[in-house]
Amino acid sequence: STPVATFCALLREARMGLLIKGGSVLESLGEIRIAAFDKTGTITRGEFSISAFSVVGDKVELSQLLYWVSSIESKSSHPMAAALVEYSQSKCIQPKPENVTEFCIYHGEGIYGAIEGKDIYIGNERVLARSSCQHQTDDAGLNNKEGVSTTGHVICDGDLVGVFSLSDDCRTGAAEAIRQLRSMGIKSVLLTGDSAAAAKRAQEQLGGVLEELHAGLLPEDKVRLVGDLKARAGPTLMVGDGMNDAPALAAADVGVSMGLSGSAAAVETSHAALMSGDVLRVPAAVRLGRRARRTIA
Ligand code: ADP
Ligand code: MG
Repeated sequence: STPVATFCALLREARMGLLIKGGSVLESLGEIRIAAFDKTGTITRGEFSISAFSVVGDKVELSQLLYWVSSIESKSSHPMAAALVEYSQSKCIQPKPENVTEFCIYHGEGIYGAIEGKDIYIGNERVLARSSCQHQTDDAGLNNKEGVSTTGHVICDGDLVGVFSLSDDCRTGAAEAIRQLRSMGIKSVLLTGDSAAAAKRAQEQLGGVLEELHAGLLPEDKVRLVGDLKARAGPTLMVGDGMNDAPALAAADVGVSMGLSGSAAAVETSHAALMSGDVLRVPAAVRLGRRARRTIA
């Protein structure tokens, strides 16, 4: 297409909420053969609510535990962190992030913080191993079946002291966007740092539209899988929002970040940013890209 036609197309897409960083990205969109989606914050809204929070053992009381957790999570920008802080505040616990003396983020796992001489880890099953916690978790009673729920653990000085479950809903239009891609011959797969159980629940909520589910991934696993998809299927699209998605977004032929809710790193490394959160703009942009390529040929 002519430069003017391309410019008009990009402008129109931008108005509809998808910022495409240049005409060559639009052409690449037209070549996409397979799509990879992150789960949390991409397929789902990334707006968690806590459905249960309970103390394990008798080492700490709930109010103490919520104080530690909310103080440490106040230092994180993960969508789960906001939900944990809000939950604690709803129980009249005020977080004091200034009391957190050490702090470390483990992407795809959770976080570590030292507060009042205690070493606290918060996160998924991987964090249990990292904190050298021996406890076997039995969270069967925690998981509710609403939305896409995930289990979190709190470890204090090597002991499991708390478990919680959070749920998040799929974005409106997520299932439809994946169906539209499929009707265009583009299969979609899920790449998530969350558990296999959470991935399965997302798939159920989407009505089974995803071709493959890959769970428990670290940022480098997402990059590797994007590489596999490229080798197996051809030009690959990746849609993601987190810090942990940034390398995979850069590795994809077209990386699309969630513009407003996404991390700065993801927006920076992506080739396009979805400002509206409307994932239906993704298949629309692929259609536009295909049209643009036809006009050149
Ligand atoms: P996704 O790839 O689905 O966006 P992430 O890689 O961001 O997921 O996170 C993977 C998992 O790590 C989460 O499902 C959660 O269990 C855990 N996690 C990450 N950050 C935190 C945090 N700040 N607090 C608690 N758990 C966390
Ligand atoms: Mg995410």
